[in-house]
Parts: sequence; C-alpha cells; structure tokens
Amino acid sequence: MAEADHGDGGGVRQATEVVVNGVAQGLRSLDDAVAWFSGLSPAHRETVLRDVAGYAMQAHITPADGREGVLRSGVKPTANPAVMVCLDPPRYGFHRLPPDEHVRAFRVLVSVFAVADARRRETYCKGACGHPWHRLPAPAEGL
Ligand SMILES: [Zn+2]
Repeated sequence: MAEADHGDGGGVRQATEVVVNGVAQGLRSLDDAVAWFSGLSPAHRETVLRDVAGYAMQAHITPADGREGVLRSGVKPTANPAVMVCLDPPRYGFHRLPPDEHVRAFRVLVSVFAVADARRRETYCKGACGHPWHRLPAPAEGL
C-alpha cells in the first residue's frame, strides 16, 4: 500500500479513514493502526495527524472524552499530546509536535476519537445514518 505515495497523499488520506474508523468500530486494534502509522514517512504522518484531528473536531470531543481516550491509549497523561487533547477546548496542532511525539499523538487522537464516535453511533447515528464510514466492511488483508 505504499505505492503512489509520493503525490498529494490521497492514498494515505483514504487509508486513514479506513484505519481510524476501523479502530473506532472495533474492527482493528490500536496496535495494528499504530504499526501502519509508524511505517509512513514523516510528511505522511503529519497529514494523518491533521486528518485525525479533523475527525476528532467533527466528533465534538469533550475533556471527559479526552481523559477516557488517554486512559485507553496507553500514553502517559502528562505527555504533550495527552495534555493537549484534554484541554477545553482541545488544542489540535498535533502535526506541529516534534516527530518523536507523533506516535503518541496518533495513539491519543485515535483513542479519543473512538470514545466520541462510539457515543455518536449510539445516539445520532442509531439505526441508520448517512456516514459511509459508519458502514465499513470487515477489514481487508494488509491494510
Ligand atoms: Zn454515522
């Protein structure tokens, strides 16, 4: 899946949607998603962090979601990305963190998004909704 990754990052953005929503919907483990993220180039990691921050923003994460997500993420609550996500309102500039914080930022963001998205799927999206990413097929091999 690394092919054609030197252009605008479109393939990465599509993969991000599948991987992150897969974690949120229990189809994929966080460690599996982190392994995918770790294999990306630094530039693509920044793209992913920006996109996932956008998902979190759209899911209207709260400081309580932040704390629960941080607990699930396995990242120390004192780490920069964990502190940022628990602020009210959260700070979303995760892609501007130094590269050695990127994996922790990804863990935290995906975990917090999963908490907020679970609530949305139980309320607003209950029954049927128009979000294509809430109707993911079972994970495909290798993505
Ligand atoms: Zn939905």
